[in-house]
Amino acid sequence: MKQVPAANWAESFHYRFEDCVYPQCLDAVSEIVARVSSIKTLGSRHSFNAIADGRHALSLAELPVDPVIEANGTQVTVGGHCTYGELALFLQRHQRAIHNLASLPHISISGAIATATHGSGDRNGSLATVVSGLEIVTGDGSVVRAARGDADFDGMVVHLGALGIVTRVTLDVQSAFEVAQCVYEGLAWDSLLDNLDDIMASAYSVSVFTQWAETAGTIWLKRTISDDAWPAELHGASRATIKRHPIIGLDPQNATDQLGEYGLWSDRLAHFKMGFTPSSGAEIQSEFHIPRKHGAAAIGALLSIRDRFAHLVQAGEFRTVAADSLWLSPQYRNDTLSIHFTWIRDQDAVDEAVRHIEQALSPFMALPHWGKVFTPRHVGASYEKLPDFARLRNSMDPERKFSNPWLEEVVFAESKG
Ligand SMILES: Cc1cc2nc3c(=O)[nH]c(=O)nc-3n(C[C@H](O)[C@H](O)[C@H](O)COP(=O)(O)OP(=O)(O)OC[C@H]3O[C@@H](n4cnc5c(N)ncnc54)[C@H](O)[C@@H]3O)c2cc1C
Repeated sequence: MKQVPAANWAESFHYRFEDCVYPQCLDAVSEIVARVSSIKTLGSRHSFNAIADGRHALSLAELPVDPVIEANGTQVTVGGHCTYGELALFLQRHQRAIHNLASLPHISISGAIATATHGSGDRNGSLATVVSGLEIVTGDGSVVRAARGDADFDGMVVHLGALGIVTRVTLDVQSAFEVAQCVYEGLAWDSLLDNLDDIMASAYSVSVFTQWAETAGTIWLKRTISDDAWPAELHGASRATIKRHPIIGLDPQNATDQLGEYGLWSDRLAHFKMGFTPSSGAEIQSEFHIPRKHGAAAIGALLSIRDRFAHLVQAGEFRTVAADSLWLSPQYRNDTLSIHFTWIRDQDAVDEAVRHIEQALSPFMALPHWGKVFTPRHVGASYEKLPDFARLRNSMDPERKFSNPWLEEVVFAESKG
């Protein structure tokens, strides 16, 4: 009897799956899809809402991931269910790298690009932006292969699980590079708000972690090779002399190496190490993407209501993500500041806090992270390319085999396609 996944990774959301199939080859995936009327593909189950939910699940876990370097070392093609951690080990052996990682390497590639998962960096697009090819089993069981530049490709990458089963993904790769990380502590709110753009531009990837307390928190710089010495102070924050965990009080051993020592890109770009529990585990997450021009005002608006939510925060984080051309990306034609919350695992209290946050952020064109907790509503209406995405779904899944109530409510709602 094969396992039927009961809950997401954090055990904050319980699926209603009755069964789960584990095909072992592409033909079997096609045959299953052709036969069933409804199926949801599961990635690594790291989302926090009903995006992946359904009655019948499919897992690609028994398919080989088979990574292959292609196009003179500029691309890698790999099974969609491969995690970034597994991929990084393969790329290391070939001295190749991808441009960025999310906070953890444990997530699947297909699931991450489905929700426009991102790391940080003013010039770094989300993980979906380096997708240059896709293999997708569509609603009638046929296999579609599409590449960057093909019609509608920009609509297929941030796919929300709505278009088919993503069996292989091709990613742009580059020469392996080294990264070093330093943490700066004691950042004041005024200093953050007055220097937000400078701070976020001060390294290849920058995160500001906050507890929404009296001081803003810590700046985490991830630098690529630089001859400059690390400054002792950054906008009033002092360089940490011991390792830190993004969540105050947790063991820094689970966090990637710091203190300015250079090492492999894959050992520093994420916050959490493969092989260890990322983040805290008992948690819920939310995140809101704000156009950069509204960044400081949006943080200021949240500061003014922090008594409504700060007590539920394990860690907050500000990151930046570069604009892209992917239809359902929150960065579609917009550089964003992303305001993230790792909450304690109390769903009712978090839902209430999120309602206050959404109200405070409403003047700033905030878009929620597709895979995290927000108040369910027709978010798709905020995306100018939604009608095109609905048309694409009509062509790839006319019978709605890959749909679920979350997609219909949050994404499509009134869209006629
Ligand atoms: C500890 C933690 C840290 C995180 N850090 C970050 C971060 O730094 N940045 C960020 O942006 N997000 C972050 N997230 C959120 C996470 O990256 C997203 O929720 C992501 O979508 C999870 O990928 P997954 O493989 O777990 O997908 P799942 O949650 O399993 O599925 C997500 C969606 O993808 C679909 N899907 C998955 N695989 C396939 C496939 N092969 N074919 C078709 N559809 C598929 C599912 O049906 C579903 O619709 C974090 C989450 C956790 C738990």
